[in-house]
Amino acid sequence: MTDWSKRLREQSMTSLQQLVDRFGAEHFPDLPSLQQASDNFEFRISPAMVELIKEPGDAIWRQYVPDLQELEVVDGMVDSLNEDADSPVPNITHRYPDRALFLVSPVCAAYCRFCTRRRKVGDPEKIPMSQFESAFQYLEKHTEIRDVIMSGGDPLLLSDRRLDQIIGRLRQIPHLEIIRIGSRVPCHMPERITPELCAVLSKYHPFFINTHFNHPDELTPAAVRGLGMLADAGIPLGCQTVLLKGVNDDVETMKLLMRKLLAARVRPYYIYMCDQVAGVEHFKTSVETGLEIIKGLRGWTSGLAVPHFVIDAPGGGGKIPLLPEYVESVTDDEVVMRNFRGKRYVWKQPPGEDSLVAAGIHEPEYGFLPNFEVGSDNGNGKNGNGKKNGKRKKLGG
Ligand code: SF4
Repeated sequence: MTDWSKRLREQSMTSLQQLVDRFGAEHFPDLPSLQQASDNFEFRISPAMVELIKEPGDAIWRQYVPDLQELEVVDGMVDSLNEDADSPVPNITHRYPDRALFLVSPVCAAYCRFCTRRRKVGDPEKIPMSQFESAFQYLEKHTEIRDVIMSGGDPLLLSDRRLDQIIGRLRQIPHLEIIRIGSRVPCHMPERITPELCAVLSKYHPFFINTHFNHPDELTPAAVRGLGMLADAGIPLGCQTVLLKGVNDDVETMKLLMRKLLAARVRPYYIYMCDQVAGVEHFKTSVETGLEIIKGLRGWTSGLAVPHFVIDAPGGGGKIPLLPEYVESVTDDEVVMRNFRGKRYVWKQPPGEDSLVAAGIHEPEYGFLPNFEVGSDNGNGKNGNGKKNGKRKKLGG
């Protein structure tokens, strides 16, 4: 057993009783109901995350400690993204034209209570490890797939040897240009980022990792060190953050998180609205909150630190970007905009067909002119009509 897997096994919190013992029974007034909430999804808090909890109810606690509100289902769905409907063979979701999701691990170092895939994650029967062959064959057969995203669960909880086998097999598929891993290990278990792991991953470029940090406190020295090792191995790093009520739903927290990610060599990639998943609804914020956060980032900090804000559309519609309203009006003549300080600016449109005609540059009877007349330049920059070249004229007339 490796050091990291031993520590994960021996020092994680895996029961409510351990939480009670550590933080006090007064924080768990209705233990039987809480146990019910806990039983609905795998429960584990990794040692690194346990150490980060400063007090009950803080941003780290809220992400991992079961909550009675998980039992209040209003309009949450089990498979809100309809991933299972787009799964042609076990462990593969193929929704977008040129990329596919490949679930390779059922386990995570810590289980986030807001997990979109809580219907599957933690259950080896639902993310079967013995059925990869049909997934490989599907990827081999579908030559339109050029980008595969390994996810789970957390792929980086697989052993180095297993990762080497899986990624090595994927690399033999010629049309797979890009291989990506989605992993929260750099946050949950930074000690898992070892030189040996980096040596394996760096064999398979172009290889990307999208990690997942939700709060600035998660960028601990150990996490930053692990991210640096991955970056030194030549792996471009992105971050997918989930917008969570009571965790990061304010501008200052997000700004600090994005700045710290960038300083740790991670490019913020997405802020997701929390998905409409049953048992997760208490984490949802309004869309306006997300838009205010983007407004509070754009212009106020490096553009590199401003991720896309998206909703992964319920029912399998895919990621839809949301933007604050910077454009006030658009006419044929001009675009009226406001900058990040709210100050108004006007940008003049290039002249349209009507204004060119009004200015005598176009001859109106030609309506649509497919090309400039060629071969009539008389050497003075004018064509045979004495008009400047670049003015449109009926061809063959
Ligand atoms: S690490 Fe990812 S897959 Fe695992 S529980 Fe958290 S959100 Fe879900």
